[in-house]
Parts: sequence; structure tokens; C-alpha cells
Amino acid sequence: MEDCIFCKIVDGEIPCFTIYEDERVLAFADINPINTGHTLIIPKSHAENIWEIGEDDLTAVHRASRRLAGAMQRALQPDGIAMLQLNGRAVNQLVMHYHLHLIPRKADDPALSMTEWELVPGDMKVIEETARNIADAC
Ligand code: AMP
Ligand code: ZN
Repeated sequence: MEDCIFCKIVDGEIPCFTIYEDERVLAFADINPINTGHTLIIPKSHAENIWEIGEDDLTAVHRASRRLAGAMQRALQPDGIAMLQLNGRAVNQLVMHYHLHLIPRKADDPALSMTEWELVPGDMKVIEETARNIADAC
């Protein structure tokens, strides 16, 4: 879809740190990570939200989430992984292309607000290295 930043990532017009992909989904590093290893999983085909996404793409995203969670466990040894998915501007969805956040967390990390957090750009070198680390564990 035109003017959709995640479609542009799927099409290779905007770069990303790819962690995993198959015929239906792409997983890549969030560039404003809440924690090291913050990853997004998207359907390659544009759908805005939970009401628009097709059953097969929805299934593919969530099947991939389990694979990615296993890879994160092996690569990063977090104490837990928060999975978050926002639908609609009212709950602060910023990119209007369905995406599932996977956020590895340590037990003593500060509490995470559910729908609003400050977007702080990450260190691209750390993001790239961590993305490769998880990708190798997929
Ligand atoms: P939200 O729509 O609120 O669930 O969050 C959108 C997420 O997309 C934010 O965590 C952003 O940091 C992330 N994001 C936006 N643009 C990019 C990009 N070009 N590459 C990676 N992550 C991005
Ligand atoms: Zn899109």
C-alpha cells in the first residue's frame, strides 16, 4: 500500500534489520526498542488491524511469534517476553499496518505502560547485532 512505511520495508524501499521471514510474514528489529531485542512481526500483505487481517496471515504472524519467542529465549535469555498488538489510533497505534511487538524483559525492568511509551531511537549497531543474534537462533 502506498505511503505505508511497513509495506515499504516489505518491498525493500526502506531498510530494516530482518530477523525472520517466510512467504507470509516478516520479522524485523524495532528501531526505537523498549528493550534490546524488541522485534516486530508483520504480514507481508497490507492489513491495517485485527479487523482487516485475513485468517491465514493472522495465523502466520502468531505461528512466527512462537518461533521468534524460542529464538529470543536462546539468544537473549530474557525472564519474559511481552507480546503487544495495538488496533486503532485511540490506543496509540502509530503505524497502520498490523504488527505484533515482541519485547524481551528482565524481571527487574521498570513496569511497561501498555499502550504508550516514549519512542527513543536505539543504537543501530546494537540493534543490528542483536537482530543477527536472534536470527541465528530462529
Ligand atoms: P505502534 O504502531 O504504536 O504499535 O508502534 C509502531 C512501532 O513501529 C514503534 O515501536 C516504532 O518504533 C516502530 N517503527 C516505526 N518505523 C520503523 C522502522 N522504519 N523500522 C523499525 N521499526 C519502526
Ligand atoms: Zn502496509
